[in-house]
Amino acid sequence: MDLEDTLLMMPGPVPVAPRVLRAMSKPMINHRGAEFSAMFDDCREILADVFQTKNDIFILSGSGTAAMEAAVGCTVGKDDVVVALENGKFGERFKDIAARYGKVNALENEWGHSFNLEEVEKKLEEGAKAITLVHNETSVGIQNPAEEIGKLAKKYDALFIMDGVTTLGGDTVKVDDWGVDIAVVGSQKCLAAPPGLSMISVSEKALEAMNEKDALPYYLDLKAHKKSADKSQTPYTPGVPLFFGLQEALHIVKEEGMEARIKRHATGAKAIRTAADAMGLEMFPQLNDEHSHYSNTVSAMKAPEGVSGNDIKKDLMAKGITIAGGQAHLSGKIFRIGSMGNVQPKDIMLTIQELEMTLVKRGVVSEFGAGVEAAAEVLNTL
Ligand code: PLP
Repeated sequence: MDLEDTLLMMPGPVPVAPRVLRAMSKPMINHRGAEFSAMFDDCREILADVFQTKNDIFILSGSGTAAMEAAVGCTVGKDDVVVALENGKFGERFKDIAARYGKVNALENEWGHSFNLEEVEKKLEEGAKAITLVHNETSVGIQNPAEEIGKLAKKYDALFIMDGVTTLGGDTVKVDDWGVDIAVVGSQKCLAAPPGLSMISVSEKALEAMNEKDALPYYLDLKAHKKSADKSQTPYTPGVPLFFGLQEALHIVKEEGMEARIKRHATGAKAIRTAADAMGLEMFPQLNDEHSHYSNTVSAMKAPEGVSGNDIKKDLMAKGITIAGGQAHLSGKIFRIGSMGNVQPKDIMLTIQELEMTLVKRGVVSEFGAGVEAAAEVLNTL
């Protein structure tokens, strides 16, 4: 298989536009010069629209996890309690990061099960410096109720730290309206830039918490990022080619417009879910709360009876389509189709077509056609 022919339909990294690749091959520039500062400010301006915030936004040279660690590491001290909400792999990661810096009071749900807001409130009543939430739990394809949890965080005066890694740039996120003190995103997801950068917004309240803390991480010191960002710079040498790529990717986001982009993502995911249903597949998330939803950027389906999710992944890989399997104990039990970034209806149609052909071949579905027809009907509404 020629790699050029591989279609990435996984939840990041996602296909990168040729103009983004071309931008990354530009000659290097001085990261302390005016050209870099102009690029840095341009990126931050577009990101403010994506994040829906007036808060400071910093750009870190490091993947999404670096921003998650910066968020917790700069605000949480060893005696501080963090309510960590877990219903998948990345909620677990936030919990593990919080345990390195402070004390954890975790709400651990079975992966894929929605949170009960009363249980979240009970945790906060016990007292907390911060609460961590993964808005879109990529590992299980569930969208958690960020706005409602933001209200609870405010009621109990806890810092609201939110991972928006697979929503920002592809779904509705309102950092200021929802009271998100720190929001993080990675470059390789809905923004459709190459992996390696992460972006983080920081509220006044979060900055105050950093001022009260005596020891901050060094490389991930967000106060150092603020000091430099105020001069349109980064504290240390940034990944300059990645910045070139990010700027171009953000221009694509701006040209499409966030409203249209969000609609395209929502419709694409709905097409996948509708097709799955038509093919007799079951979605994995268990939605027991009216504020929780299926993800608009990654769809997780249960592997059909007698077939491993990993075999479905392998079948599609042989056809030149890369989807994702299940993580940790969910390996083999589920499979996931990403539909984020600049993924187009034709990419979704092709994926559903190949998935349906596989299901027919494996005897899961008796006749070809219901899946592609269902997907086409939804995509035609775009
Ligand atoms: N959070 C979520 C929701 C993710 O989907 C991912 C990556 O898939 C991460 C965090 C970690 O990001 P990275 O792999 O860029 O460090």
